[in-house]
Amino acid sequence: MTSTDSLAQNLTCIDCGSSYSLGYRLECAKCQGLLELRYDLDVLRGRGPTLFAGTGLWRYAPVLPIADPAHRITLGEGGTPLLDCPRLAAQLGVRRLLIKYDGPNPTGTVKDRSSATAIAAALQFGFHATSVVSSGNAGSSIAAYSARAGLRSLIFAYQRASAPKLLHMAATTSDLVIYQGVYDDLITHWDRLVEERLFFDCGASRNAYKHEGKKTLAYEIAEQTGWQPPDVVVAPVAVGETFIATARGFREMREAGWIPRLPLMVAAQATGANAIVRAFRERRPITPLKIGYTVAEGLAAGNPGRKGEWTLRLLRELGGLAGDVGDEEILATQRTLARTEGIWAGPTGVAALAVLTRLLAQRQLDPAQTICVIVSETGLKTEAEPPSRQGVAFDAESLEKLVRERLGV
Ligand SMILES: *Cc1c(COP(=O)(O)O)cnc(C)c1O
Ligand SMILES: [Zn+2]
Repeated sequence: MTSTDSLAQNLTCIDCGSSYSLGYRLECAKCQGLLELRYDLDVLRGRGPTLFAGTGLWRYAPVLPIADPAHRITLGEGGTPLLDCPRLAAQLGVRRLLIKYDGPNPTGTVKDRSSATAIAAALQFGFHATSVVSSGNAGSSIAAYSARAGLRSLIFAYQRASAPKLLHMAATTSDLVIYQGVYDDLITHWDRLVEERLFFDCGASRNAYKHEGKKTLAYEIAEQTGWQPPDVVVAPVAVGETFIATARGFREMREAGWIPRLPLMVAAQATGANAIVRAFRERRPITPLKIGYTVAEGLAAGNPGRKGEWTLRLLRELGGLAGDVGDEEILATQRTLARTEGIWAGPTGVAALAVLTRLLAQRQLDPAQTICVIVSETGLKTEAEPPSRQGVAFDAESLEKLVRERLGV
């Protein structure tokens, strides 16, 4: 066995436990449950992290489901920094704050992790076209990776997506369709079309192959902390792919004996789209919400579907925590993060940090712990008015005066 072999063994139903060979199958034939990829844990246990070689997302190929290296499409995703943030930690009153910053990914978001494995799987299963319904980030990412793989992509994008996201999608695919309403209004119809196999399913509802790329977040965090992962990991949640994949990654490493314990997993949502947090808090099943606009565009799913139910189940099984925040707090957090640590992240990207801030204020988390927050998006795709375009004309004297005044020297 070489270190680039995939250790994926089968797809297992998360509800009834039936298992299937590694084909393009989206749900359990017996009970319609979601499927989860399972790997050869004996090899993971035996070989340990020496299994991994190379850099970026495909460093973790042994725990990803793409058998043939020729299908492992890349734009340079993964391998993002885990940043120690002492100034912000002091401001929040926590002992140690780590930010897993996914803004440096090729299209600026965590979505590139799942797009890499989605498009690789599309190649693996012989598809010529891909499609996704997106609030903007998934659309840009799937379009870019499809182009990179020479596949057509039919991208359905939210009409209120930011201008930079729309420009990016229009640049990377010739098949961009703007839809009316929110994600929930289109996703059910689109999911039905997936059954006809006209395109490879790049949606967030069911595809286990797509989902799997986001698991590398957990592997990176563990490796970057010397296999002593943080006490707490806070993840942003729309339907919960990022949350589920990260939790599963840590669980796999725990089962393989690579890490001493699992971090406490915290799910973060925007108050305007908080179906999962609400159900968790009220100890009820998920009730889909009719939602409007939230600045956390990437989290705008009122009906998180079966992945949402899986997220809720994991939260309960793992004894996790959940919280939500409004748009004002998200925007304030965006400014704070930029000024205290120089990290300019988008509103969707900082939602988890805003939730952490609130949970700390409510004393729901112990500040003596090491807390890691997934900041999932760059701020460079945010749409906003520039502060001012009023220019000043300088001469030598007025320039020196200004510099001395501003710097107090
Ligand atoms: C899509 C997205 C998420 C999380 O969505 P999940 O479907 O719950 O994984 C988080 N952050 C950004 C920037 C996103 O685009
Ligand atoms: Zn089943």
